[in-house]
Amino acid sequence: MSISMAQSNEYDVLVIGGGIAGEEAALNLANIGYKIILVEKDLSIGGKMIHLSKVFPTLDCGACITTPKVSETARHPNISIFTYSEVKDIEKHSENDFSATLVEKPRYVTNDCTGCQICEEKCPVVVEDQYQWDLVGRKAIYVPFSIANPRIAAIDIENCSLCGLCEKVCPANAIDFAMVEKKSTIKIKSVIIATGFELFDPLNIPRYGYGKFKNVVTSMQMERQLVPTRPFNNVLRPKDGKMPDNIAYVLCTGSRDETIGNPICSQVCCMYSVKQAQLLMGALPMADVTIYYIHVRAFGKGFCEFFQQGKGMGIEFIKGKAGLIKEKENGNLIVRYEDIQEGIVKEAEHDLVVLSVGILPNTDFSSMFKNTKVKQDDFNYVNKEDELCCPSKTNIDGVFVAGTSTGPLDIPDSILSAGAASAEAAGYLKGGAK
Ligand SMILES: Cc1cc2nc3c(=O)[nH]c(=O)nc-3n(C[C@H](O)[C@H](O)[C@H](O)COP(=O)(O)OP(=O)(O)OC[C@H]3O[C@@H](n4cnc5c(N)ncnc54)[C@H](O)[C@@H]3O)c2cc1C
Ligand code: SF4
Ligand code: SF4
Repeated sequence: MSISMAQSNEYDVLVIGGGIAGEEAALNLANIGYKIILVEKDLSIGGKMIHLSKVFPTLDCGACITTPKVSETARHPNISIFTYSEVKDIEKHSENDFSATLVEKPRYVTNDCTGCQICEEKCPVVVEDQYQWDLVGRKAIYVPFSIANPRIAAIDIENCSLCGLCEKVCPANAIDFAMVEKKSTIKIKSVIIATGFELFDPLNIPRYGYGKFKNVVTSMQMERQLVPTRPFNNVLRPKDGKMPDNIAYVLCTGSRDETIGNPICSQVCCMYSVKQAQLLMGALPMADVTIYYIHVRAFGKGFCEFFQQGKGMGIEFIKGKAGLIKEKENGNLIVRYEDIQEGIVKEAEHDLVVLSVGILPNTDFSSMFKNTKVKQDDFNYVNKEDELCCPSKTNIDGVFVAGTSTGPLDIPDSILSAGAASAEAAGYLKGGAK
């Protein structure tokens, strides 16, 4: 569904992905007069950042930083946004001349929706809410989340019972079951890939019990519980709703581990875990928080001080590799770990365990192009062809890459990378840099 309707199907730059990197690249180019089409496969722009609680190392509110950027992108006269859409068959014909197929998926709710959520109240179908990482349920018709942009409902047609109640109660008459997928051809002069990252799925490490023991959660599930808005506004154990008082973090879950195929460091997990632990100590002043780590990587400006601040607040750091998590009858968890300093295996009891899941490449970009492939690096991210001089250049002239599509990055570095991509794209459009 397009937010601002395009006047024609011709644009200067196609930005793929509406996370913080895609928004930044689109805004930089739109502000100097280029006409941008931003294509986002999700129902809302904002990427992962829009779901975060606060950000390290400043503890600024994530939503307060990202929502102005989201709104600026959505309202910019030079940016046409297509959410719930994807691009395929991107083809380069000559310099400054690409074509692509834009596929808009049906939401079954029109732009007339006001986001009032009356339909949600009436809808009888409840399924797991992907935007709360399955911690709670949502209805078959739903506004994705409170600060979604656009704030328009969508029907999850696979789970809808077609009872028609939403159609009866919608005051805006916005339900349209006749909507179908729309395909169109767009012409562009340049492309920026900003499709971001995937989170490691801890089901791939069965010995940690995720999916089996309800009180083992991921760091993204904890982010949602720490966000000071709906639907949580508190931290509770999923199994019994009890307030936890002895919480453990298992760092490097799915990172720096050859055995699961991801040997590299995810760069953000140490710091986001220290951030969450500090926030937990504020939310649950009586709680103990322990972080099991191999090495703490605090390499950015202010990161080491942030880590020391956590220590000063009473977070316990144990240099230990967690090997196994077992559940007790009362829902508490036993973490078996190798104490690296003492060289012995130990066990400790906690009532909630947070797995600090790592960053993995989103390889969607590899199938978007027709007749040619965007080159991947050894870790399946977009390959940077000239990392030192043109850090956004890919193997295709006129195609650039921004943010975590290049590898694990935090928010400031994703924004810097988007700045480089937009500058290189502008140079290319002017007939300079390739
Ligand atoms: C638990 C957790 C906590 C974090 N906390 C912090 C923090 O406190 N501070 C900090 O600096 N960093 C933090 N980060 C890192 C931060 O989330 C990333 O740096 C940032 O989100 C990267 O932005 P991005 O735009 O590159 O990617 P993303 O946020 O992944 O955005 C990519 C966008 O592209 C879209 N997309 C994907 N594929 C397609 C496709 N085929 N077509 C169209 N669109 C597509 C996605 O839907 C998404 O909207 C945290 C990460 C995690 C996991
Ligand atoms: S038609 Fe589908 S979405 Fe609408 S109320 Fe019924 S089950 Fe929910
Ligand atoms: S579809 Fe109708 S009832 Fe549902 S949120 Fe939109 S305007 Fe409200």
